[in-house]
Amino acid sequence: MSLLVSIHDVTPALESGVLRLWAMCAERGVTPALLVVPDWHGEWPLDRHADFVGWLRERASQGAEIVLHGERHSHREFAALDRAAARERIDRGVRSLRGLGLEPAGFVPPAWRAREEGHAAAGDAGLGFSEDEGSIRLLPSGRRVHSPAVRWSARTPLRAWGSVAVARARWLFQGRARHPRLAFHPRDYEHPRTARDLSRTLDRWPSRHAPMTYAALRRSEPTPLHDAPLDAPS
Ligand SMILES: [Zn+2]
Repeated sequence: MSLLVSIHDVTPALESGVLRLWAMCAERGVTPALLVVPDWHGEWPLDRHADFVGWLRERASQGAEIVLHGERHSHREFAALDRAAARERIDRGVRSLRGLGLEPAGFVPPAWRAREEGHAAAGDAGLGFSEDEGSIRLLPSGRRVHSPAVRWSARTPLRAWGSVAVARARWLFQGRARHPRLAFHPRDYEHPRTARDLSRTLDRWPSRHAPMTYAALRRSEPTPLHDAPLDAPS
């Protein structure tokens, strides 16, 4: 049983939250994947933030996996795109990360929203995985690995309390999940209730599930010769 830990919305626009999340993980010996947005809302192109890019490169050299997380992270960015349009956008994102010396290992659409074609497009672009809220797709086969995500929302007080309750329920009831994910967002710090729960969660889960990388997951879940999606009727 293993645990995938990631920091979403990695952008200089949310730098203080990103650094705080990284420190929280590092203090516990956990190296999270970094879900990087090349140009947050069209206003934060990474190439204009050399210090932040340098920080990312250093983290990558320490073993943090770099993951493409949309292009601008606009609302519903990938939700409506067909395969060709998604591929075009993913290719642009990959090019911009590579141009900065960052090699993306996989793709996570903003808010985990993409059509099936969008996930396939990540495989077309040569990336190793894509994911939605309930599963990780190993690419290019598209084989799905069940992987419930624990995430928080600090957008309103009600959501903050609700997301903490859901995170606890996941801890109680998903003890046997093989590959749960902890998905931290810089904005989780905007409400004290969620902020407190992050470190508590990160203290708990690794006692039961050893943190692992996406690369290790790919190695541990080899694609069978006659591949079939895990959720296909048998
Ligand atoms: Zn995001």
